[in-house]
Amino acid sequence: MAEHAKFSPSAAKRWINCPASIALSEMCPPSVPSASAAEGTRAHAVAEKFLKGELDGAWPPPSGVPVAMYTGAKLYRDTVSQLGGKTLIEERLDIKEDLFGTADCGVVSDDLSVVDYKYGQGLEVEAKENYQLMIYAWGLHLKTDITPEFYDLIIVQPRIENNQVKRWLITHEKLEEFMNTVFAAREEALTKGVNATIQTGDHCRWCPAIGICPAKKAEIEHLFESDNVDIDARSLPMLPSPYKLTPEELANRIANVHYLYTYLNQLKKFALAEISAGGEVPGYSIKQSLGNRKFTDEAQVVREFYPSVKENLYKPREVISPAQLEKIIGKGKLDAFTTRELGEWKLEKTKDNEEQDYSVPPETDLFIMEDDL
Ligand code: SF4
Repeated sequence: MAEHAKFSPSAAKRWINCPASIALSEMCPPSVPSASAAEGTRAHAVAEKFLKGELDGAWPPPSGVPVAMYTGAKLYRDTVSQLGGKTLIEERLDIKEDLFGTADCGVVSDDLSVVDYKYGQGLEVEAKENYQLMIYAWGLHLKTDITPEFYDLIIVQPRIENNQVKRWLITHEKLEEFMNTVFAAREEALTKGVNATIQTGDHCRWCPAIGICPAKKAEIEHLFESDNVDIDARSLPMLPSPYKLTPEELANRIANVHYLYTYLNQLKKFALAEISAGGEVPGYSIKQSLGNRKFTDEAQVVREFYPSVKENLYKPREVISPAQLEKIIGKGKLDAFTTRELGEWKLEKTKDNEEQDYSVPPETDLFIMEDDL
């Protein structure tokens, strides 16, 4: 099994903003591997084969490799190829003895590039200010002893609808400033443990300690407090009725309710990990669910069953979506052929209600955008 860094680059956003999360996480049972993590590992193995030339993109995909995994890996390979230079594939990059990681791909040319392959489709990953890639870029600088003017950070995420390849450039000077923030957070976590800075925010989403975190607990309790309401008999115990909240309290709760979902999900994950590690959660056990059945080899299925079931073996053909057709023929040619039906009413943020930024990024002038160059 791969060695696990105490200060993992993939969790850097969390521990930079909340150094106490390192010590708190160590008090929790190790998490149970998820099905999507297993799928990601498999997708990365296919992508690695593309980079090493063991797969060339010829059609059809080899037996057992899903089409989406195959075409996604091809996009990743094509993106890396366009960069030119020497490629370092799945290279371990050491920054400190407890701060290291394995970059999907580093490319050494006039600049240093880090290319990260993300097979997930639920959450779109940005290249801009991506702490994981910034730390890898620093690791690549240390490994190659090259100090470029710019580092090129690239995310390839084939299963999202648009912008599957995202790039962001950062200067060496700005990256060095960022790394000082990284080292300061690490130092604080090492010297202060659970007494280090503890701070909630979007970075709590994947925190293993969310189920035992005092800051998160206080935040959620505060979320359901209200000076203005009595507890309503129709609402859940301790939850004030929505009818009795002031407009400001209503807005505050809607803006923050995702914390509650995250917390509840983490509670379940925590219980799962606890039982997997041999612990007990009264009234609960764990069981692994079965995914949908899949053909092991579609070509073999066609050979075997096409003679008897003919075209019934295939899904009916359907026309692709306007967005997909526009990708082929270009934008602005479908106005006469498309219409939009009105959908459901939904709550939307007003322009003056800007996105709340809970994170503590380094100085705002620390980064530069590609557009600024
Ligand atoms: S849940 Fe959030 S605030 Fe609590 S330790 Fe984790 S990252 Fe820090």
